[in-house]
Amino acid sequence: MRKALVIGNWKMNGLQARNDELVRSVASGVADEAFAGVDIGLCPPSVYLQTIGLQLAGTSVALGAQNMSQHASGAYTGEVSAEMLADVGCSLVILGHSERRALFNESDEDVAAKVKAALAAQLTPVVCVGETLQQREAGEAVSVVSEQVLQALSDLDVAMLEQVVVAYEPVWAIGTGLTASPEQAQEIHAALRKVLSGLSTDAADKVRILYGGSVNAANADALFAKPDIDGGLIGGASLKAEDFIAICRAA
Ligand code: PGA
Repeated sequence: MRKALVIGNWKMNGLQARNDELVRSVASGVADEAFAGVDIGLCPPSVYLQTIGLQLAGTSVALGAQNMSQHASGAYTGEVSAEMLADVGCSLVILGHSERRALFNESDEDVAAKVKAALAAQLTPVVCVGETLQQREAGEAVSVVSEQVLQALSDLDVAMLEQVVVAYEPVWAIGTGLTASPEQAQEIHAALRKVLSGLSTDAADKVRILYGGSVNAANADALFAKPDIDGGLIGGASLKAEDFIAICRAA
């Protein structure tokens, strides 16, 4: 069986004083037997990774980044490499978030290259896919997310594929307060797992597929109860310790 995974994506929020408090509250809030069945990660802004990594050392909470370069090193001003993330204690990295795709022109090719670079540095890539409202209304949700997953992952061998986490995040549900219904999400998750099984049936059983998009303490239970929803990628609600801990408990 797949172990549940809940990841907080802080996006570009939080300064040191508040981070300190939030990290402390989350780490102590989930340091309990009741959370043994769920893997938990936090993805703060990159400038705070090292400090927060030190705070999380010895806790059950993993550290992750929100993005990285596809390049290993060199003349890429402003970029951060996979190896650097691993060096400061990251074990996860979110890749291809819809905000990066929409605001920073990240292409499927970029995401595929980043996935490989992350795996080479022993980071777990959390590959985000999702359709826009327009695509959903045109009946294209399954084809759009299937294509995104194939573009990002088809080049990987089975051993690598098994290391990947996929996050289904419908663009229309991110930060909007609109959540996909558990049934809508399950339908896409099942379709994604079918796409994965076309690459490897073994890997399809192992890969965790998270749901993201306005997950909160009230709707998490019903989403996580679905058979193909293996946890969540949490934006807004990860900025409040109490809410994030409640979501982890639901998983
Ligand atoms: P949200 O963001 O929970 O605030 O909708 C999720 C995400 O973008 O990862």
